[in-house]
Amino acid sequence: MALDQYGRDIDYLRISLTDQCNLRCVYCMPEDISFRPRADLLQDEEILRLVSVFAGLGFRKIRLTGGEPTIRESIVELVKRIRATPGIEDVGMTTNGLLLKHLARPLRNAGMNRINVSLDTLDPAKFKQITRWGNIDDVWNGLTEAEEQGFRIKINAVVVRGWNDREDAVSLARLTLAHPWQVRFIEMMPFGSTADFQQTHTVSEQELLDVISEALGPASLVDAGRLDGEARRYRLEDAPGELGFISSVTNPFCAGCNRARLTADGTLRLCLLRDKELNLLPLVRGGASDAELTALIRESIWFKPWGHGLAEKQIPRGRVMSEIGG
Ligand code: SAM
Ligand code: SF4
Repeated sequence: MALDQYGRDIDYLRISLTDQCNLRCVYCMPEDISFRPRADLLQDEEILRLVSVFAGLGFRKIRLTGGEPTIRESIVELVKRIRATPGIEDVGMTTNGLLLKHLARPLRNAGMNRINVSLDTLDPAKFKQITRWGNIDDVWNGLTEAEEQGFRIKINAVVVRGWNDREDAVSLARLTLAHPWQVRFIEMMPFGSTADFQQTHTVSEQELLDVISEALGPASLVDAGRLDGEARRYRLEDAPGELGFISSVTNPFCAGCNRARLTADGTLRLCLLRDKELNLLPLVRGGASDAELTALIRESIWFKPWGHGLAEKQIPRGRVMSEIGG
């Protein structure tokens, strides 16, 4: 078991498989971003070794993310081998869904059963505007295939004021009336070079809930407000699906945070909104034993931060979201 100084049991690892992406969402990365050379990123065997070290520390749940995890050529094989690592009980993925039409079945066969697909609007023109060039049909085809393959599906929508905070949010919420999906509205968070844009375009949970309720009727709180991961959940009347609100900036969920992140270039990051990191790559490549890695990771986890410093203008500037792995 890996405990931090506040008594939190950290057992959930998010692994970024690449810093690259086939889209450029406006809130995530600048259009002219340059990517790290492949040799500077964790190789498959290095990822698998670290997964086994984390499993030895009591980690049970893995989520693969990025950048866009599906563009890693070895993705299916990686999922299969991570899932087969002793101790690992659950492997999920966060994806933009563009490549899911062809990957949903092999991923399901490799042992994955949960998938989060990022989709901020159902309007094709707006989707293109937010992602800078994406075609929404690709996402929709991917979602349809994932549903057919029996995945548990969550939709992640980052809400950007003036872009998708009104009719788009309502259309996304309406999906929960037809599908057993959790549609999650994510408060935009400030990172690196995109921080100024984010800070002026954030929409609060209450504001969004009011817009949705006005159009689709009242939404009742699920489970008396107990968080599902980081999401507070609501259900529209007779809906098979749920609405989720992730309000990391205005209503942080630090008390229930059980996660650590491994970036594509091999650093361990204990808080999304804090720049402090432990660089594992030189250790992995420099001959550190599993016991040495375990001791360093355990110590780093002990000092996992509590609370972000955004109110004090401590904005994480070291990396943008795509480099950390959302
Ligand atoms: N490419 C994949 C995708 O879009 O799902 C995985 C990586 S992406 C960085 C993971 C999640 O982070 C996505 O749901 C995305 O919408 C979200 N995200 C990106 N930038 C964000 C920001 N500034 N604030 C909040 N969420 C953000
Ligand atoms: Fe790519 Fe995901 Fe970032 Fe969009 S949110 S640019 S799809 S990594």
